[in-house]
Amino acid sequence: MLVGPSGAGKTTIAARLVERHAGRFALSVSATTRVPRPVEEDGRDYHFVSRGDFDEMVRAGELAEWAEVHGERYGTPADNLVPGPEGGPVTVLDIDVHGARQVMERVPSALVIFILPPGPDEWIGRLAGRGTESPREIARRLRTALRELAEAPSFNRFIVNADLEHAVDAVLALVEGAGRERGASRGFASLCRALEAGARSGIERLEAAGGAVSAGQGDTNG
Ligand code: 5GP
Repeated sequence: MLVGPSGAGKTTIAARLVERHAGRFALSVSATTRVPRPVEEDGRDYHFVSRGDFDEMVRAGELAEWAEVHGERYGTPADNLVPGPEGGPVTVLDIDVHGARQVMERVPSALVIFILPPGPDEWIGRLAGRGTESPREIARRLRTALRELAEAPSFNRFIVNADLEHAVDAVLALVEGAGRERGASRGFASLCRALEAGARSGIERLEAAGGAVSAGQGDTNG
């Protein structure tokens, strides 16, 4: 599972991992109530569903976990966690921290890797550079990201995504057991502090540009 704040590059790393090692890894396609971005395809990036259909999936027990992130619902179809045949592809989940904790309860052996952006400027630049979200929406995502960052110390596998191919190599090394497990070292702690400070000033700037986000709107359901 890849976890970490929005804009850290989880989705891009997961996609590149599967592209480079097709047959060895497969993406878990989540259900979401969010509207598709222009480049996204239903069934490939997400199963885009209405709020009513999502709630029906929850009631029917079709989701292994779900969470509300940035005011929208996201969930992992339970079928995606059913182990495939021996030697079949490893399923890769790109998921929020709350969802990851739920999956860890179901599948204790699951590997969880926390992805961090290399620094505040690159991070906020990446979030803003998608060009698909308003300043207000980016500010909301940064608020949620601050909460996700606060959870980082409870994980023990981190990758700083400064370069996509290196990040994919680092994921592979961790999957193969060659990577080092480490607690949040001083380097990580200071990176997290820098990211936090950058997010806070980014939020102030974005809110000044796009109108205030009212309290609580950036919350997850956990
Ligand atoms: P985005 O809207 O940028 O695609 O995703 C927003 C957040 O939702 C990201 O942190 C992503 O990892 C998370 N997410 C995507 N799919 C799922 C899912 O199935 N379950 C949970 N809990 N979070 C998800």
